[in-house]
Amino acid sequence: MALKRTARVKLTIPDDRRDDLKRTMLTFREVAQQFVDRGWERNEDGYVITARSHLQSLVYKQIREDTGLHSDLCIGAVNLAADSLRSAVERMKAGKRAGKPTFTAPTMTYNTNAVSYFTDGDESGYCTLAAYGGRVRAEFVYPPDEDCPQRQYLSGDGWEAKGATLHYDRDGGDYYLHVTVERDEPETELGEAENGTVLGVDLGVENIAVTSTGTFYSGGLFNHRRDEYERIRGSLQQTGTESAHRTIDQIGNRERRWNNDVLHRISKALVQEAITHDCSHIAFEDLTDIRDRMLGAKKFHSWAFRQLYEYVEYKAAEFGIRTKQVDPAYTSQRCSKCGTTLRENRTSQAEFCCQKCGYEVHADYNAAKNVATKLLRSEQKSPSGGATNQLALKSGTLNGNGEFTPASP
Ligand SMILES: [Zn+2]
Repeated sequence: MALKRTARVKLTIPDDRRDDLKRTMLTFREVAQQFVDRGWERNEDGYVITARSHLQSLVYKQIREDTGLHSDLCIGAVNLAADSLRSAVERMKAGKRAGKPTFTAPTMTYNTNAVSYFTDGDESGYCTLAAYGGRVRAEFVYPPDEDCPQRQYLSGDGWEAKGATLHYDRDGGDYYLHVTVERDEPETELGEAENGTVLGVDLGVENIAVTSTGTFYSGGLFNHRRDEYERIRGSLQQTGTESAHRTIDQIGNRERRWNNDVLHRISKALVQEAITHDCSHIAFEDLTDIRDRMLGAKKFHSWAFRQLYEYVEYKAAEFGIRTKQVDPAYTSQRCSKCGTTLRENRTSQAEFCCQKCGYEVHADYNAAKNVATKLLRSEQKSPSGGATNQLALKSGTLNGNGEFTPASP
């Protein structure tokens, strides 16, 4: 498995090349839009064209002739267009509203042919970026912190720099390069693992996360602060003055930092729990449309869940632990003890009581165990092969065949 990270670094652009870079970025955006426009016109069968190669064959040559944009940037623009068309089509397929994608953000995609990195040793490095008027040499501006991750990612120390996205910050007038870096990590598929153990995580509003090992991370503080914030924002919005809007922005930024900080800490604790229980995998329910499935979930929650998942995935990978999402169907109705799935098993928001075997347990904890079981089952190659895999529980482990082993004291 390739471990992926993004290194975000500020660039110094020579004054005499700023216009070239700006013109390149504007053209890139126009070109990406032209590809989108062509794709949106649809093919002869009336379908939006989402295949990169198809789009390229239709208009690439003409666009290259018209704009003289570097061929690799042109390719980047096709890729960007194809990606955005594909996600628009996916939204339509899911019955959601989707208009023609438009590009407004000041960004530009560099594949490995359009950017080169020069980052030998500890000295601050630089890159060269394809642009009108020839390559632009841009120095990296690292934060003063010696151990800053950007420096590590870009210093070549085990990490390989791949493509990048160039961002222009309109407020500060600075350019930032977001470089994708990769490192190879040995990985074990659960089905092949000697002793694969899964930590299941259930997400929710009351409890932001509950694990199959029985740890509850309350969402109470989150929800309380969230309501408080909404209330203050609402009254400031009514005030409507310029300074009120500035205050809204300031509070918003502070809220985001606070939320991120809490999610970071929860993710750390979750990964620590997986390490403590010797887990090879962490299972979450599928996050797509999670808000629609969850009573009382707000937009904030789907954001928080995605963020939490990303943090966990990121941190767990450093320890060789894989993070996966499983189909959430029936995880709240299935009895994690006897396997009976009944709507009536879920007696209230917090309570689960199996109508067949009488197992009474907190509903979120029951769901967390089911999430882990789902991953075990989905990765099981043969019934016998699965016997070595198990899910991590409070008091021991349970394998895919339902055999329970108590934790050693
Ligand atoms: Zn039961």
